[in-house]
Amino acid sequence: MFSSLLIANRGEIACRIMRTAKRLGIRTIAVYSDADKDALHVEMADEAWHIGGAAATESYLIANKIIEVAKEAGADAIHPGYGFLSENAELAESCTEAGIVFVGPSAEAIRAMGLKGTAKSLMEKAGVPVVPGYHGNNQDGKFLKQKAYEIGYPVLIKAVAGGGGKGMRLVEKVKNFDDALESARREAGAAFGNEEVLIEKFITSPRHVEMQIFADGKGNAIHLFERDCSLQRRHQKVIEEAPAPGMTDEVRNAMGEAAVNAAKAVNYSGAGTVEFIADGSDGLRPDRFFFMEMNTRLQVEHPVTEEITGLDLVEMQLQVAAGEGLDLDQDEIALNGHSVEARIYAEDPENGFLPSTGHLALLSLAEMPGVRIETGVRDGDDVSPYYDPMIAKIVTHGANRDEALDRLSNALGESLIAGPKTNIAFLRALIDAEDFRGNKFDTGFIDRNLDDLVTPLPGLREAMAALGAIRIVEQRVEGQTDDAVKASPWNVADGFQLGDTRSTGIDILANGKKASFVIEWVDGGPAISLGAEAEDWPEVEATLVDERGGVIVLAEGWQVRVSLPDYSTAGFDDDGDGSVIRSPMHGKLLQLFVGDGDKVSKGDRLAIVEAMKMEHSLTAALDGVVAEISAVAGDQVSEGQRLIVIHNDDE
Ligand code: ADP
Repeated sequence: MFSSLLIANRGEIACRIMRTAKRLGIRTIAVYSDADKDALHVEMADEAWHIGGAAATESYLIANKIIEVAKEAGADAIHPGYGFLSENAELAESCTEAGIVFVGPSAEAIRAMGLKGTAKSLMEKAGVPVVPGYHGNNQDGKFLKQKAYEIGYPVLIKAVAGGGGKGMRLVEKVKNFDDALESARREAGAAFGNEEVLIEKFITSPRHVEMQIFADGKGNAIHLFERDCSLQRRHQKVIEEAPAPGMTDEVRNAMGEAAVNAAKAVNYSGAGTVEFIADGSDGLRPDRFFFMEMNTRLQVEHPVTEEITGLDLVEMQLQVAAGEGLDLDQDEIALNGHSVEARIYAEDPENGFLPSTGHLALLSLAEMPGVRIETGVRDGDDVSPYYDPMIAKIVTHGANRDEALDRLSNALGESLIAGPKTNIAFLRALIDAEDFRGNKFDTGFIDRNLDDLVTPLPGLREAMAALGAIRIVEQRVEGQTDDAVKASPWNVADGFQLGDTRSTGIDILANGKKASFVIEWVDGGPAISLGAEAEDWPEVEATLVDERGGVIVLAEGWQVRVSLPDYSTAGFDDDGDGSVIRSPMHGKLLQLFVGDGDKVSKGDRLAIVEAMKMEHSLTAALDGVVAEISAVAGDQVSEGQRLIVIHNDDE
């Protein structure tokens, strides 16, 4: 076995690989970018090397740099994890040249499976069923259209170099073919520098079922059963489970054999995944699944396979890479129970799943029996805008599917994340959806049910906003020292307007949107009577004060940020004359050119905010005096955050 291992990755997968390496007594070497110097994977490693700028193209994607560090650090082997350089044949080659072991298959195997078209031809030859379609070299538009006609609509156009659903277009009717082809080519060209496409029959009621395989390059190849990854959004996996619901021994054997043949056809070595698309319109059938592609690396969802087999896939990868061979026969692999994984992302389901990066004001993931958590961030860390905004994977195991799903639902319910928006409520709604529980789902399930899955009930949102308003008032009251003042609601908050009754209106911002409530003073504390829509108060999981003095309310997996307009972020203009300078985006306040009390003239440069390597200058919109500066150089600032206030000269 190796004595040292460099992990050419970051986040949860780097941490997960290190855990196994440490258990095996292997010295762990981490690499990190500017953005990751305090990251968990750096802390966990025995040693860590800085490799460059925050953007992946300046660090995690530079193969030469990684080889250089590996040599200097004396690494025996490099584990690439998933993503980044994990399917980069050049890295595999450079490793060999440098006398370092690449934990993965040969460069030839990576190349053979790298292009979907070539891989499909290869698989056809090896007797692996492939989706009916055209995957040849002729890229003439008219010819491809003719092929689409012969295959029969609906068809899928796929970029041969594709990945992550990019360059893929579903064409339902012949009249849409030309436009779809053009846009698929454009997207593929931009993303992969390769415009070539293939045409495939679009399988109706498609289920994504993949086989985990292992081979040692010495003629031994086995499979570790299947995973069902049919719950997808934009062709990206959201929930993965093993075994596949409705799987029979007959189909599993046929699929396993096909997957092992696929691996043998490229003299594969290490962990790999053979992805199949199954026509699920009639249940899983031995003659209705087709090869889609092979991923020549460890997958994000490998833990569900570990849970049902009791094997450590990273350990097996290291053993095979170290030349120790596979010491397991197919009939020694046992399937125990059921496992499900959910990917928690920093994203905003209510707003088209836009990434929602930033400071984790709270991260508390449920540790319970049957629950395994894989994460690369800690409470108080930032979710970086530079990389995939995954916060954690929650993996559960149970005696059967229902138990595993119940455990996942509970674990999601008990997990609290504040700061970035997350998809927790969406994941929970999915896990608990009746048709998903009843095995009635395919890859279109999320899209078909999107509205129900991403929108909290309006009443819930209102109630959460009201709770936030109450917390803010309470906070204000607690902040008053004089007991007499404390008892009186009328002096406590600038959001109040004095009325002649013991109730008063309060304006707040809830997730940036203005809302008004009437606050009454009941039993010495503030209270709000909710409108008709919100009859029930939600079970609040947490309220916490955010970095700008507002309140974050967490309930049922949703998050509402409440603030008084004074602390406002985007969406509530308390200026209008340009006297308040706000950050135009999430980023870093790079430089401040003015100080409190400085005189400024219209057009003067006040500050620079930087995000994604782009600098934005903030300038004065009027002549005046700097009356307030609310951040210091180096601060992370959010979009709409108030940075500087200028008072007009004649005020
Ligand atoms: P990528 O490499 O871009 O992720 P894949 O070829 O792996 O693309 O396909 C991604 C997803 O698209 C699959 O998991 C499946 O949901 C869907 N898909 C792919 N091919 C077909 C097909 N022929 N018919 C129906 N759906 C398909």
